[in-house]
Amino acid sequence: MRKWPLDESGEEVRGQVGREAGSEVSVSDARRRIPRTDVLLGRPPLAEAVQRLGAATVKAAVTAAQARARAGELAPEEVAVAAYDALPGQLTTLRPLLNATGVVVHTNLGRAPLSAAAVEALQVAAGYVDVEYDAATGARARRGRGTLAALREAVPVAEAALVVNNGAAALVLATTALAAGREVIVSRGEMVEIGDGFRLPDLIASTGARLREVGTTNRTALRDYAQAVGPETGCVLKVHPSNFRVEGFTASVGLDELRTLGPPVVMDIGSGLLHPDPLLPDEPDATTALAQGATIVTASGDKLLGGPQAGIVLGEAATVERLRRHPLARALRVDKLTLAALEATVRGPRPPVTAYLHADAASLRRRTQRMAEALGRPVLEVSGAVGGGGAPGLPLSGWAVELPARCAGRLRDGKPGVVARVERGRCLVDLRCVPPEADDDVERAVRAALDTAAVPTAEG
Ligand SMILES: *Cc1c(COP(=O)(O)O)cnc(C)c1O
Repeated sequence: MRKWPLDESGEEVRGQVGREAGSEVSVSDARRRIPRTDVLLGRPPLAEAVQRLGAATVKAAVTAAQARARAGELAPEEVAVAAYDALPGQLTTLRPLLNATGVVVHTNLGRAPLSAAAVEALQVAAGYVDVEYDAATGARARRGRGTLAALREAVPVAEAALVVNNGAAALVLATTALAAGREVIVSRGEMVEIGDGFRLPDLIASTGARLREVGTTNRTALRDYAQAVGPETGCVLKVHPSNFRVEGFTASVGLDELRTLGPPVVMDIGSGLLHPDPLLPDEPDATTALAQGATIVTASGDKLLGGPQAGIVLGEAATVERLRRHPLARALRVDKLTLAALEATVRGPRPPVTAYLHADAASLRRRTQRMAEALGRPVLEVSGAVGGGGAPGLPLSGWAVELPARCAGRLRDGKPGVVARVERGRCLVDLRCVPPEADDDVERAVRAALDTAAVPTAEG
């Protein structure tokens, strides 16, 4: 599709491709007629593009188009149009995708999509803002105080809050500040690997704290912890095994009991729920963990909380302050964009992650059926997932439009790109994490994928 604007006469400037191919003389003649770079960059649509996209990007497109003309692929009068048409629409190479996998917190797709409120807050924070400044007095102020206040208001049982770069950073800061050079006591049942080969024990060891493992994989009792506690203990750590389940003959120790041991109890709740969610009965939340006796909790901002990537620390004021004052805290601090998006997520309407998790089954089914009928494809009952290492074993029942597996690649390539799930030789389009207003986009993308995959639109 041509993007080049029309000239005054309403005519598009174009030549004929390869018009002079085959004739040595006219080819070299054509080469001489290729417009110079400065001339091209001076033409209004390209000059405007320089303002919008930057000189380097536009110049690269111009150079590439000139090279195509020299190779005889373009007529000289087509160079400007070709350069303009090749310009990117945006300056991030990140490509927006529609998530039709049914996996709500999809790490490879950037975990939580932000709410409109959070996006608006990002826009506000993009300029100069009072992130660390008191405009009334002109003096320096506590960085991100609005975000910290929002977290404390959302979790009144927490005396203080701190925000760092991600959940792993929160845990590193906690174990460093509380136990560097000393011991972190942790149950053998909670020595988890987060994903991508990233293991919590290694993470903690990297802080200079020594791991003191107690109990067994399936059972750990209070006396196991009690026997390990001593002058070398920096903190007791409890980690939510967020991506697996241990079933059968199991026992673990509650926070209320761990609290009686004396040292600070750090609970890594992982997913960032601030309050219990009845849909996720096994998922710990900050309010309950603190009420039960955790000294501090650490969590991610971009899992079930549905906000930007962040690490959240909530709990006892004196302990949070120890973390905040540790030199490492400066290296793990978040920028104003994160603070703004997190505050808007915590204060604002429910974010997409929450909406998708709690998607109304009847309307999800209706949307799926409507699309399946329009496409002449079957509907399949499927099971989505919370994803992002959250709520293992909790299936989210739903529906999907079934397509031949070969459609999956075409869908990913499409405009917009749609990521579907491929399962047992089928391509499943699950609308759980698709905003309803994007259903038509998905349907169009599927039609295109079916056409290019050259399969009948009926059963097959
Ligand atoms: C996800 C997770 C982490 C890591 O959090 P990030 O925000 O990904 O750094 C740590 N602990 C638990 C239990 C988790 O589920």
